[in-house]
Amino acid sequence: MKVYVVGTSCSWFKRNDTSFIIDDNIIFDMPSGSYKDIIKTTDQNKIEAVIISHFHSDHFADLAYLVKFCMSYAEGRKEKLRVYGPKGILKKLIERNTAYELNEDERSEEEIQKAVTFIEIEDGMTFKEGKYNVSVYKMEHGKPETLGFTFKEDNGKTIGFSADTCYCENLEKIVSSSNYAFVEMTLLHQSKSHLSSNEFVALSKKYEKTKIFPVHTTDVAQKFAEENGLNFLHDGEILNF
Ligand SMILES: [Zn+2]
Ligand SMILES: [Zn+2]
Repeated sequence: MKVYVVGTSCSWFKRNDTSFIIDDNIIFDMPSGSYKDIIKTTDQNKIEAVIISHFHSDHFADLAYLVKFCMSYAEGRKEKLRVYGPKGILKKLIERNTAYELNEDERSEEEIQKAVTFIEIEDGMTFKEGKYNVSVYKMEHGKPETLGFTFKEDNGKTIGFSADTCYCENLEKIVSSSNYAFVEMTLLHQSKSHLSSNEFVALSKKYEKTKIFPVHTTDVAQKFAEENGLNFLHDGEILNF
């Protein structure tokens, strides 16, 4: 698996919001402001699938631009774009886009579905996307419902994505079953919706065999990662697993 790190941050910081491009054709989360960075490195016509963890703007907002591209400007796409996300994703997209981007005559479910296939996913599901067997986990992030994932290759190598979450059983399941995992470490202090730096460190120690990268960090959490020898990432970094 090749992972292009579009961003490492959460909102309000100069670094890009957390998002990844897998093998140049699968996008994991499309935060506000990510679209331009994604298309600087990836041919939009070759994007086959987008996975959305939840409907907060720093994970979902820029999906609208890729959907609009597929509806209006895409030429030579081999297949429809597949978008995986929590229940209600198409309705949520329309709701968000009544104010911008989609013209009035483009806002019906039928019009959008001519260009894009939406696949609603939930806890416990598995699906095949490209060469990966993807497993879906419900995370603990309050509302809206948030999903984490593992991507497993045929050779067994597994990469995990926690998305936004506090410490929970499914986070442990993702990390314990992954060789590499991108795990949120938003804050220094404990909270009901995000992981603290101490919890991140404890998780890394408990599952030593998994290489865990802190993402979705505030600037102070990113500084903590740098000062404490965690596997922190930079925007624009490319990892090959
Ligand atoms: Zn969130
Ligand atoms: Zn977030």
